[in-house]
Amino acid sequence: MKQNSEDNSQQGIPASKPGRLVFASNNAHKLREIRSILGSSWEVLSLEDIGCHEELPETSDTIAGNALQKARRVHELFGCTCFADDTGLMVDALGGAPGVYTARYAGEACSPDDNIALMLRNMAGESNRAARFATVIALIDDDGEHLFEGEVKGSIAYRRHGDGGFGYDPIFIPDETGISFAEMSPEDKNRISHRGRATRRLAAYLLGEKK
Ligand code: IMP
Repeated sequence: MKQNSEDNSQQGIPASKPGRLVFASNNAHKLREIRSILGSSWEVLSLEDIGCHEELPETSDTIAGNALQKARRVHELFGCTCFADDTGLMVDALGGAPGVYTARYAGEACSPDDNIALMLRNMAGESNRAARFATVIALIDDDGEHLFEGEVKGSIAYRRHGDGGFGYDPIFIPDETGISFAEMSPEDKNRISHRGRATRRLAAYLLGEKK
């Protein structure tokens, strides 16, 4: 857990303070990414940092709706500047599925490998492999609610390629590269990825207009 010179009691670090914002996540990879983009201008706290142990709602039928739901719940509980993200993989030949169900494609308790296996099965014999990843980040600050989106177009591979990254990375090939996300360095992936793009839009807003 992050150490802080101020109050760092069991209740967590105070969520509201100028220059401080809460990311409604405990995903270390995502926290590192946003902290490296924002530098020292903003202090980004995780849910664990602020002592939020509640499971946040994600029951919307859109990724923007889910991101907003999570951010609104944290704002309601802590009254702080906060943001949340949600990501979906949309495959043309599957009518836009799995979309909002991307994380739970193969079932509630499924692994990333289960999701990939099901995707490869459902796409067997399909020549239209077009797909896109989209991320929506919902930010709530003193001025209200703001959405930042990022997208990357690509295709679903016929088999796994590479062992880096996470989730569907071994079977997603961005149009810009011709190699899968799992075959790229994290830096190369961030430059073109859905989440990298959405995160840089959030950062431009935070660094440009707010403090
Ligand atoms: P989340 O909204 O970030 O939790 O993402 C939803 C699901 O999309 C995750 O469970 C992953 O399976 C998948 N996903 C999100 N981002 C990526 C990515 O960059 N590469 C591969 N899969 C991803």
